[in-house]
Amino acid sequence: MKRLDWGILNMLDQAQIDALRAEIIPPQTQLIDGKKTAASNGGVRDVFSPIDGSMLTTIAEGTSADVDAAVAAAKKAFNDGRWSRMAPANRKQILYRFADLIQQHALELAVLGVRDNGTEISMAIKAEPGLAAQNIRYYAEAIDKVAGEIAPTPEGTLALVHREPVGVVGVIVPWNFPLMIGTWKIAPALAAGNSIVMKPAESASLSLLKLAALAQEAGLPDGVLNVVTGAGAVVGEAIGLHMDVDVLAFTGSGATGRRLLQYSAASNMKRCYLELGGKSPNVVFSDAPDLEMAAIAAANGIFRNSGQVCIAGSRLLVERSIHAEFTKRVVEIAEALKIGDPLDTTTEIGAVHSETQLAQNLDFVLKAEAEGAKRLTGGERVLQGTGGTYMSPTVLDNVTPEASVFRNEVFGPVLTVKPFDTPEEAIHLANATEFGLSGAVWTSDLSTAHRLTMGIKSGMLHVNTYGGSDITIPMSGMKQSGNGVDKSLHALDKYVDLKSVWMKI
Ligand code: NAD
Repeated sequence: MKRLDWGILNMLDQAQIDALRAEIIPPQTQLIDGKKTAASNGGVRDVFSPIDGSMLTTIAEGTSADVDAAVAAAKKAFNDGRWSRMAPANRKQILYRFADLIQQHALELAVLGVRDNGTEISMAIKAEPGLAAQNIRYYAEAIDKVAGEIAPTPEGTLALVHREPVGVVGVIVPWNFPLMIGTWKIAPALAAGNSIVMKPAESASLSLLKLAALAQEAGLPDGVLNVVTGAGAVVGEAIGLHMDVDVLAFTGSGATGRRLLQYSAASNMKRCYLELGGKSPNVVFSDAPDLEMAAIAAANGIFRNSGQVCIAGSRLLVERSIHAEFTKRVVEIAEALKIGDPLDTTTEIGAVHSETQLAQNLDFVLKAEAEGAKRLTGGERVLQGTGGTYMSPTVLDNVTPEASVFRNEVFGPVLTVKPFDTPEEAIHLANATEFGLSGAVWTSDLSTAHRLTMGIKSGMLHVNTYGGSDITIPMSGMKQSGNGVDKSLHALDKYVDLKSVWMKI
C-alpha cells in the first residue's frame, strides 16, 4: 500500500533528535530593544509539552508595560533609520545571514518547536526552519528589486510614487507552524524597512524566541525585531490597542481577528491583516486521473499535523457513484497512519496541541453523531498513557450541510464526507460555509476543473493535488478566512504606504 510521502525523512537523524530533546530548556525571557528582558512585574508562565504533558520551561508573562517598552524601542529604531534607511544591499546581507543561521540551526529549531507544539518532526523540519529560511531569503532578494514608480503625467510635471515603510508592525502568531507563519510576516515587513513587535502564541513561543536571537546574531540592529511573550488577552490586546503600532499582521482564529478589528477601531484605526481559519472542500469526481492518489491526498490533506493546518481539506465531497468505495479507501489509509511521539522520525501523526484543543475536537465528533453523522473510524483520544494529547484520525460520513461539523472549523483530525450528484451541487456544497481559504478538485475534465475552481469562493485552489504551494504564490483567504495576503511579492504591499509627490517642472 502507498503510504503518505512526508518527503525528507531520510534527512533526520534520530540520535541527534534524541540528544536535543533531552536538553533542559532554561527559563525564557523576552527580546526588547535587543536585550533579554523579564516581564515588567517578574511574572512567568509554565510551558507544557503536548508530547507527554511534562513541564518544559517558563516564558515571561509579558505585560502592557512590556508592550509599551517594545513599541517605544521599535518606533525609535524606525525613526532614527538604523534599519529603515540602511542601504538596501546591507539590509539584504543581514537577512541572508539570518536565513543562513536558521538553516544552520534547523534541527535545533525544529525540535524546540515540536517540544512545545507537537507537530511531527518529519513535517516540522521542512515546514518550520526549512520554510522560514526560504521565506527570509525570498524577501531579502526583493529589497533592491521592488521600487516605486514615475507616473506618466503631462509634460511640465513629474509625479513620483514612493513605497514607504509604514513604521511599527505588530505581528501576532498562532501556535501551529510559528516559524513558517511568523516569517510570512516578519520577512516582508523587515524587507520593506519596518520595525516589529511580535507576540508568539503563549503555548508555543520557544522556537520564535530562538529565531529572534538568531536575527540579532545576524546583525539586525537592536529594537528592529522585539518579541513580547504572554497572554493574548494582555499582550495581544496591548499591541492591538497601541497608538504607535501602525499595522497589525495576524494569523489565528476568527474570534481573535474580530477583536483586533475592534482594537483598531478603538485606537488609531491601524490596518489589520487577518489570516483566519478554513473549512476547505476537497471535491473528488469519478473521472479523477488517479483515485488512489486522490485518496492518499484526501487523508494527507486533513490528518497531517493532526488536522491543525489552516488549509486542511476537512470536507471531502465525493461523486455519488464512487462515494462508498472511495470513502472506504480513505478510512483504510487513515487507519494505517502511525500516530505517536512527534519526535520519532517515523511518526506520521503527532500530538494534538493541548488538552483544550483535544476536548474541543472530541466534542465536535459527539455533536456530529448526535446530528446524524456516521463515524467510520477514529474519534477517540489515544495513547493516554504517554501523558500527551493524541487523537485518532476520524472520518464522519452522512454529514449534512446543516451540521455544525460541516460548517465550522474543528482544527483537528476530523474529516467529514458528503456525496454529490452534479458539478453545480458540488459548488453549492463547497461554498456552504463562512470560510473561503483553500480547496481542491479532482477530475480529468478540464472544463469541470475550470468550472469548479471559478465557482468555489476560496483564495487557494488545487487541481488533482492537495495543498501544493510555495513562497511565490499568494496565501489569501476569502469570506471570513481573512483579508490579507501572506507570501509572494504581494505581501510586501501590506507593509508599505504609497506616497505620491507631484512636482511642477
Ligand atoms: P487564536 O486566535 O486563539 O490565537 C492566535 C494568537 O492570537 C495567539 O498569539 C494568541 O495569544 C493571540 N490572542 C488571543 N486572544 C487575543 C486577544 N484578545 N487579543 C490579541 N491577541 C490575542 O488562534 P490559535 O488557536 O492560536 O490558532 C488556531 C487558529 O489559527 C485556527 O483558527 C486556524 O485556522 C488559524 N490559522 C490560520 C492560518 C491562515 O493562514 N489563514 C494559518 C494557521 C492557523
